[in-house]
Amino acid sequence: CGIIGYVGAQPALEVVLSGLRRLEYRGYDSAGVAVVGAGVLRTERRAGRLANLEKVLDEGSDAMPGTTGMGHTRWATHGGPTDVNAHPHTDCTGMVAVIHNGIIENFAELRAELENSGHELTSETDTEVVAHLLEIEIARSRAASGETASTASTASTGSTAGTATTAAAAVAAAAAGTAGGSGAAGGAAGAGPHPLTEALRAVCRRLQGAFTLVVLHQDHPEVVVGARRNSPLVVGLGAGEAFLASDVSAFIAHTREALEIGQDQVVEARRDGVTVYDFAGTPIEGRRYHVDWDA
Ligand code: GLU
Repeated sequence: CGIIGYVGAQPALEVVLSGLRRLEYRGYDSAGVAVVGAGVLRTERRAGRLANLEKVLDEGSDAMPGTTGMGHTRWATHGGPTDVNAHPHTDCTGMVAVIHNGIIENFAELRAELENSGHELTSETDTEVVAHLLEIEIARSRAASGETASTASTASTGSTAGTATTAAAAVAAAAAGTAGGSGAAGGAAGAGPHPLTEALRAVCRRLQGAFTLVVLHQDHPEVVVGARRNSPLVVGLGAGEAFLASDVSAFIAHTREALEIGQDQVVEARRDGVTVYDFAGTPIEGRRYHVDWDA
């Protein structure tokens, strides 16, 4: 129903919760958040009002440290409005988190395939298959590049990037304290897509139906990645921060510079800007615009 993703320098939990409050008008039955920080992906989700979630979060403390995060308000289509069905959904390793608006029409067949290969799904949603499919894609790309699964202690270096080129770029960027680019919409030109972007792109090609997806990975606090088909996704471009949202009202308090994401596109957001690709992997020059209405 409502989606907000954030990467920047502010505490992500606060940005995400205030974004969710701005999206409450759409109606929802559950809410959840995920934040990556200090090498750990933390998630929290609750059925009912946002206040139910906020009660368990103890906002203002360091319960969910980190400056990369996302939040969701759910309007249930598959599986009742329970804590377990609320988003974010995670994979078996707990390293990948996914939030989703829309309906994945072929989820039953994907779920059967996953269960046959030993994945344990814990919710009744159509969404959860995406987390497990991402887990498989990420494992595949790590195996292809000869790497073993990383541990939390190596998380913030970005050293698990899928190719030698992107790994070097990520390490250099981590050293520089930014994602190492020249500004919004194309900052990482030359470095190629992030492995998480590539994984989401591969997964999207297997999905049917309508989806706005935003994903986080424990080992990759430098990015938040989104994708869309038949469901809205807009990007907010700030100074040293970027937002992915179902609706500009979620980030309008922070920036009015927006980037339109087209049908069947995936977007990689970093602190220094964003890069957009179509589902075939071709870079796309998104249309930038200024939001001039009052929210
Ligand atoms: N189909 C998903 C679910 O039921 C997402 C619903 C939504 O758009 O909030 O969990």
